[in-house]
Amino acid sequence: MSNNEQNILIVDDDPIVLKSLRDLLAVRGYTTDTAIGGKEAICQLDQKEYDLVLLDLHMPYVNGHDVMIHLRKHKQAPAVIIVSGETSFEAARSACSQGAYDFLRKPYATEELIITINNALKEKRLEKQNKQMQMQLKESERLHRYLVNTSPDIIYILDPKGNFTFINERIESLLGFDKEELIGKHYSLLVHQADMEQAKYVFNERRVGARASSNIELRLKCKDDGAPRYFDTRSLPIELSSMGIYNDAKSSKQDTYLGTYGVARDITERKIAEETINFQAYHDLLTHLPNRSLLRDRLGLAISHAKREKEMLAVMFLDLDRFKNINDSLGHMIGDELLQQVSTRLKGCLREGDTLARFGGDEFTLLLPKISDRREDVSKIAEKIITLLKEPFMVDGHELYVSASIGISMYPQDGTNMDTLIKNADVAMYHVKGQGKNDYKFFSIDMNTPYTRSLSLDTGIHKALANDEFSLLYQPQVDLKTGEIIGVEALLRWEHPEHGTISPSEFIPFAEETGLIVDIGNWVIKTALNELKNWTDAGLPQIRMSVNISTRHLAEKNIVKTINSALKETGIPGNCLEIEITENAIMDDMDSVVQKLKKLACNGVTIAIDDFGTGYSSLTYLHKLPIHTLKIDRAFLQDSNFTNTDHTIVNTIVAMAKGLHLNVIAEGVETQKQLDYLRELDCNQAQGFLFGKPFTSDIISQLLIQEPFAAPGSKKSKSGQQDRRH
Ligand code: C2E
Ligand code: MG
Ligand code: MG
Repeated sequence: MSNNEQNILIVDDDPIVLKSLRDLLAVRGYTTDTAIGGKEAICQLDQKEYDLVLLDLHMPYVNGHDVMIHLRKHKQAPAVIIVSGETSFEAARSACSQGAYDFLRKPYATEELIITINNALKEKRLEKQNKQMQMQLKESERLHRYLVNTSPDIIYILDPKGNFTFINERIESLLGFDKEELIGKHYSLLVHQADMEQAKYVFNERRVGARASSNIELRLKCKDDGAPRYFDTRSLPIELSSMGIYNDAKSSKQDTYLGTYGVARDITERKIAEETINFQAYHDLLTHLPNRSLLRDRLGLAISHAKREKEMLAVMFLDLDRFKNINDSLGHMIGDELLQQVSTRLKGCLREGDTLARFGGDEFTLLLPKISDRREDVSKIAEKIITLLKEPFMVDGHELYVSASIGISMYPQDGTNMDTLIKNADVAMYHVKGQGKNDYKFFSIDMNTPYTRSLSLDTGIHKALANDEFSLLYQPQVDLKTGEIIGVEALLRWEHPEHGTISPSEFIPFAEETGLIVDIGNWVIKTALNELKNWTDAGLPQIRMSVNISTRHLAEKNIVKTINSALKETGIPGNCLEIEITENAIMDDMDSVVQKLKKLACNGVTIAIDDFGTGYSSLTYLHKLPIHTLKIDRAFLQDSNFTNTDHTIVNTIVAMAKGLHLNVIAEGVETQKQLDYLRELDCNQAQGFLFGKPFTSDIISQLLIQEPFAAPGSKKSKSGQQDRRH
């Protein structure tokens, strides 16, 4: 700031004095304002800020004292130099006591006046600069305080002993401590016990520059407010950077350590994100179970451990039966919810240390390490799973039933590495699928051949219809009182170009899973009814044709239409067709199945429950559905099953069917003993190798011409019977 930037006001009631002062100063480079008398001076002082006032004391009306009083009153603070004719000491004293900078008597010595003016202006300049600096300092301090307190980080200063001398307000929101209560306390009060050792090297860091601690992860303790906590919110992950504080190195030779300055950043969100990413990489998002990668990790470890400890371990491959049907008919939302419920239930079967993983879709894998009691432990778990899954699942108002096919491989006998164990458990699982599902099987070496065959079945089945590779055989169903063939069951065969004749049990699961069963099933219905028409046209006795309809096929929208049009086209009356469905088909989607079966029954078609007794065997649906026949599964007819006549399942089913006025067909009758037993129970119909294996159409037409079947023991027993059996 130069002289001419400073404002000077000259006040005097004598215009000559005014002019002479003004000229004097102008020559020395000062620009000045003048005021004649005290009143005008006050006016000008109110309008403009002056640095210096040259003030006459003795003026009429408003004198120099009045002007100074005004200045004080209005907190205007120019330097005031009294230039007065007053000579008394008292005048000078009182002027100075009113705040005048100096007192010059008229006539003044020019040099003295100029020196005084220069000094006053210099002092004023310094005063102004000082004020400005102070304001800047205050502003900067305010800014720093603001930055420190609103910082998302905890900022602290420790004394050389590690006690807090400063900590910002962030500590309150992050850890719940009042910052005042921490001042003077040791930093260890905030450090999580487990991280204390590491904290010693970073929290009161002495180093500076590149060697100081930077971004070190630690956990801090939150203040324990005594409230019960359900999650661990008592620690806060932070990233700490800190450095030593020293006094000015230039001033003394030896630096003095004054303490530590540190910044701790809350990294909770980053930790959560890291954990989520980590979780997602190793878990299935739908069920939160470990995924394939984590299972492989754990299996790898378990194999090494088993090798070292000479233990056994088991890998279970578990595939839900007919899950695709649920997904297709009820939608993915329901399917997903069902998978979640299934995984929760499966978790209930685990021992500590077992790993249940979702392999994708409806496949789960179970790793059972530390198997000591050979296979028995594993069998128990597999049985437990099968039993647990029997209870229905409630999903969005639907009562759903699922079952699982489980394949098991054991380390070391079924494989010593991860891939072989998983593959062999998978092979065993496919065997369960092929043999009726809802069961478990241990891998055995002879399973490998059909498995590789299964793979080619999967592709070959797509072309089988077009290549005319399917055919039907017909197995007689016999009236046990008369011995007459009252019907036949159409049984599908696939003549595979490489593998020869393949049983439906082996390829139907594939056909169901791929959806090809719909086309194949439609072909079966048409072919079977055409054959029946051929027999009738040839004048053979009218019999009933039983056709197996798979669950997936029954779920088709057009199934009723397909069946009714096939009947119409062939002119076969509805009551000559019986469809065989399984209990699973009904349970999968009861409401829609009831509608379809009722429509078919209206057209005379009869409905049989196939393999009765192996599924849910629930009596409730028997009332709801238009069912005519129960087919007792052949498993119940095995000799070992009826040593005690009164308590057999067959006994119960026959009694129940009679009560409900249902027709009963016993399946798989192979021996005379079984037949005698059935007769004793008054079972009305039977089917099995004792009467004949599934035959070609030609053989059936011959049988229909011949006399009735007469199984040994019946009144109509004839010698020709053996010829009919193949
Ligand atoms: P299913 O409907 O229970 O058929 C009876 C099965 O038992 C037939 O096996 C038959 O050959 C066999 N069997 C009959 N009598 C005896 C006997 O005395 N002893 C023994 N051990 N077995 C006997 P197959 O033909 O291999 O059929 C197996 C299953 O494949 C059938 O069981 C049925 O569920 C399914 N299936 C067969 N044909 C078709 C079809 O056209 N469509 C559908 N969706 N499934 C079919
Ligand atoms: Mg059947
Ligand atoms: Mg059956």
